[in-house]
Amino acid sequence: MYEKEIEAIASKSSNEEIYLELLKLTKEMMQQKGRIQGKKKVYYISAEFLIGKLLSNNLINLGVYDQVAEALQKHGKSMAEIEEMEMEPSLGNGGLGRLAACFLDSIATLGLPGDGVGLNYHLGLFKQEFEQNLQKEKQNPWITDQSWLRRTDVSYPVIFGGITVQSTMYEIDVTGYDNQCNTLKLFDLDTVDESIVDDNGISFNKEDIRRNLTLFLYPDDSDYQGQVLRIYQQYFMVSNAAQLILDEAVAKGSNLHDLPDYAVIQINDTHPTMVIPEMIRLLLQRDIAIDEAIEIVSKMCAYTNHTILAEALETWPIWYLERVVPQLIPVIKMLDVKAKEKYSDERVAIIDKENRVHMAHIDIHYGYSVNGVAALHTEILEKSELKPFKDIYPNKFNNKTNGITFRRWLLHCNHQLSSFISSKIGDDFKKNADALEKLLQFAGDQTTLDTLLDIKHQKKVEFKDYLAKKEGIVIDADSIFDVQVKRLHEYKRQQMNALYIIYKYLDIKAGNKPKTPITMIFGAKAAPAYTIAKDIIHLILCLSELIAKDPEVSPYLKVVMLENYNVTYAEKVIPAADISEQISLASKEASGTGNMKFMLNGAVTLGTEDGANVEIHQFVGDENIYIFGESSENVIELYDKASYRSEKFYDDDPEIAKLVDFIISKELFAIGNKKSLIRLYMEIVTKDWFMTLLDLKDYIRVKEQALEDYEDRKAWAEKMLVNIAKAGFFSSDRTIAQYNEDIWKL
Ligand SMILES: *Cc1c(COP(=O)(O)O)cnc(C)c1O
Repeated sequence: MYEKEIEAIASKSSNEEIYLELLKLTKEMMQQKGRIQGKKKVYYISAEFLIGKLLSNNLINLGVYDQVAEALQKHGKSMAEIEEMEMEPSLGNGGLGRLAACFLDSIATLGLPGDGVGLNYHLGLFKQEFEQNLQKEKQNPWITDQSWLRRTDVSYPVIFGGITVQSTMYEIDVTGYDNQCNTLKLFDLDTVDESIVDDNGISFNKEDIRRNLTLFLYPDDSDYQGQVLRIYQQYFMVSNAAQLILDEAVAKGSNLHDLPDYAVIQINDTHPTMVIPEMIRLLLQRDIAIDEAIEIVSKMCAYTNHTILAEALETWPIWYLERVVPQLIPVIKMLDVKAKEKYSDERVAIIDKENRVHMAHIDIHYGYSVNGVAALHTEILEKSELKPFKDIYPNKFNNKTNGITFRRWLLHCNHQLSSFISSKIGDDFKKNADALEKLLQFAGDQTTLDTLLDIKHQKKVEFKDYLAKKEGIVIDADSIFDVQVKRLHEYKRQQMNALYIIYKYLDIKAGNKPKTPITMIFGAKAAPAYTIAKDIIHLILCLSELIAKDPEVSPYLKVVMLENYNVTYAEKVIPAADISEQISLASKEASGTGNMKFMLNGAVTLGTEDGANVEIHQFVGDENIYIFGESSENVIELYDKASYRSEKFYDDDPEIAKLVDFIISKELFAIGNKKSLIRLYMEIVTKDWFMTLLDLKDYIRVKEQALEDYEDRKAWAEKMLVNIAKAGFFSSDRTIAQYNEDIWKL
């Protein structure tokens, strides 16, 4: 099938033409595949879908990737150069949005009926550029004339206080691996106007809802108008979702009383919470009595919690909601009164004494399932953060450890490793990830280990070439690639890694040269209003410059900060990594999924006992991971007693003080912005909310051990092999199978 078409496309001359033709053909092939059918369907509502480029993945899932790649090769082209033509949709921030994308792949691959529902942000998340070692935010348009988006006739009125708008639904097909298709449904407004954005690329009139509603993902919410705009976006998303769900269920024969037999809604974090009162409101309009409406909706909605960071659990002053969505207020107040009648505990109130609405509390009271995203995370929710809820609803809580799709994070991003695995254990692992364990029989096999090292080296060379071409940065493919790529946040502790760089720099200056040179690779966007996060980026960039200019150190140490880290970059750098930095303060990273991608590609984790690192540790054993740092229990106790003082670590330990002081050294002042460096220094010495100094010395010790162990290539290759072999559990196919078995029951 399609041989002729593919051959004809491959013979075209321009890459752009080839891309556009492949896009067209792939869309047609997906249409041909047909839809996954079923009475009951899951609607995965999420503010983010970080789907990445789609061409290669769709070709893989359709089973024609190799055919296309060969045809291209025959004509002197490569898939990689064609991929360059595709824009990466920037519909997400980081882990949470990427998870949603992996889930869509797995839902379709398992043949389950399930669609994603979200927003079609025109400019998505900002594009990051570095100027004078500082992050600058630029516009990031991604929608082109011809794209994966398909405009539909589906359109709903959405009522806000004061105005009513009319939506347009777009669709992107999601093809399962060797299976049929579901869709990602993205709602938009035809009146949205990119030209209202100022020249600086990110400011705009925040009150002009008709023109700004779906311009940006997470518009700046440092002011009142920005916060209200987020509520507009959230309500627009869920009102469309609710109307769509009702329409589809009724079309399939639902009489509304039996709605939970037709639809289940997975609420991804608190952003889609208003779907609960909105669905109740719509049922009331359709003459369902209030108690029954609440019961129906409660049987349909399940909530996923993604964080225990208090500042990330959304609460809105009720008068914000009164302004944007007045029609929901009676419903929310009723839900609040009913909850208070049953449970007087102030800690579980929906509307608190300050008249703030706790979105997660709506989800927990009026959903039938609450899940955390890794074993430790769920345990912490149950034992501390959400304990009052666990006490009243012991059976609602469950864990679903996150996962990643192996199609993108192995088959697509690492063809060499994937084919090698196939040659050893067959193709079974592509659909049945646990089969990777069969690799363990080769643990002592020298040729297998040599091949693993060879493949890693190839991926390092590929990445080196990519970096040279894209950013003009030259790195050494024979150095150790130590990689920390993820959103920039103090809890993820890039600042601790930066302090390690200072340690290493000074150590090399003192004459201790590493046996193998080290390349420290970072990639991270900081939220535009998050000052300290931007200061950390600035420090890393300044260190990079300082070291590059120092001939005593630069042969042994190189620091690279990738510009505009995104899915495409992740696919290139992760297969090239030797060491995976997962160094969040224990108890703060809910799960992480980057950690899983690295493991699957044969990087060894250097991490804390946090999030899914705990489970990775259990699977690979002490020998095949580098664990350091204080336990989550101790950290939680430190917070409870408010007894951590970074000053003490700084004052009592001259080795620590020396590293921290270097942030405000004359060397760095000569390169960087004094104000920013001093601010960061002060933050670490006087606040250090995420306890960098607590773990710093243990981190340095264990990292040094990992670097030393790297020298024994055979032993290291064995660690790589065990990591790959044990990664099966972290397939999102497993995660989704569990969601379905325990929550959705499709
Ligand atoms: C996987 C992924 C993330 C999440 O990384 P964590 O280390 O789990 O925070 C963020 N951004 C991109 C582009 C990713 O692919």
